[in-house]
Amino acid sequence: MEAGTLKLEEIQKRITELTPEQAYEEIEAGGDHVLLDTREPHEYAEAHLEGATLVPPAEVAERIDEIAPDPSQRIIVYCRTGSRSARAVHQLQEQFGYDNIANVSGGIVEWQQKGLPVAEAEGMTSGQRERYSRHTLLPEVGVEGQIKLLSSKVLLLGAGGLGSPTALYLAAAGIGTLGIVDDDVVDESNLQRQVIHTTDRVGEPKTSSAKQTIANLNPDVEVIEYRTRLDAGNILEIIKDYDIIVDGADNFPTRYLLNDASVRLRKPVVSASILAFEGQISTFVPFEGPCYRCLYPTPPPAELAPSCGAAGVLGVMAGVMGLLQANEVIKLAAGIGEPLIGRLLLYDSLGTRFTELKVRRDPECPICGPDAPEITESEMGKFPDYELFCA
Ligand SMILES: [Zn+2]
Repeated sequence: MEAGTLKLEEIQKRITELTPEQAYEEIEAGGDHVLLDTREPHEYAEAHLEGATLVPPAEVAERIDEIAPDPSQRIIVYCRTGSRSARAVHQLQEQFGYDNIANVSGGIVEWQQKGLPVAEAEGMTSGQRERYSRHTLLPEVGVEGQIKLLSSKVLLLGAGGLGSPTALYLAAAGIGTLGIVDDDVVDESNLQRQVIHTTDRVGEPKTSSAKQTIANLNPDVEVIEYRTRLDAGNILEIIKDYDIIVDGADNFPTRYLLNDASVRLRKPVVSASILAFEGQISTFVPFEGPCYRCLYPTPPPAELAPSCGAAGVLGVMAGVMGLLQANEVIKLAAGIGEPLIGRLLLYDSLGTRFTELKVRRDPECPICGPDAPEITESEMGKFPDYELFCA
């Protein structure tokens, strides 16, 4: 039909349009009418008019019989800005003979601008709906996904190079609780990459500096500070309440300790590391994919472990890899996409090249292999490789 090729203004001339106020008055007066919302389900979930039936544009022709079998039925149609609904009204009028049908001009956007009431999504305040609208507009996230983010608890190991950008974006995304473990203070040499800290906070604990920045960015986020170093004695207690752990540790003992404890408590860990111009990242979900020890059964000898501050790193590497970590966390928390489970992603910043390696569970793994003993709390400290050989 030529309806699809008509310009919107042509269509608007051929149909009845109500201003939001006129529509509101008619709806409030009661009467026998059908109110149709011709948008997508995620838009409807965010906010809709009270009493509206959702029929996405692609389904209007097919479902109108069931919703309004009588073509003389009074029907009021709206969408976001009034154009999709105008086309639906025109189609119902021309093809199906509905002759008592009207479009709400300007849609729900103008309706809300006029201060008229809508039924809003539960679980989010109006401020949150505004703040996270670019998330909720994504069908994959939607209101449901954003509510999942808001109720997620994520623990960050370190508010350093990787932790800083990761924390900033997770906070902006509305991760409801961010735990931050760091016993260090802000040093001038950190500021080249640890973007959550500021020059006037040199000498302050990194956890409190991070907390201030996050509070200014997003008051929805609760920050819990742990001004301590993870060790075999405190790790289970600290990680047990979190849904996802982000490993930005700067030393191997902590990485192994975290791996063993997170496998024991079945906590997913997003783990990245950076050195010079190179970075790598993977997501370890216990028993779904390999663990850190499946990849690296034993730590490298101390003299070959170039971590611990002495080595150089390009500042933006922390940003690139930190944001890949944040991206993994958001996918896990919202339950969308394909996490980096069983995949190790390498990034070479000088060549701007990503390389992906498949990694598998090691049947001999002393932690997640089938013959691995159950690690009890008292055994947590017994792995010899937790010693701080960076100290
Ligand atoms: Zn393993």
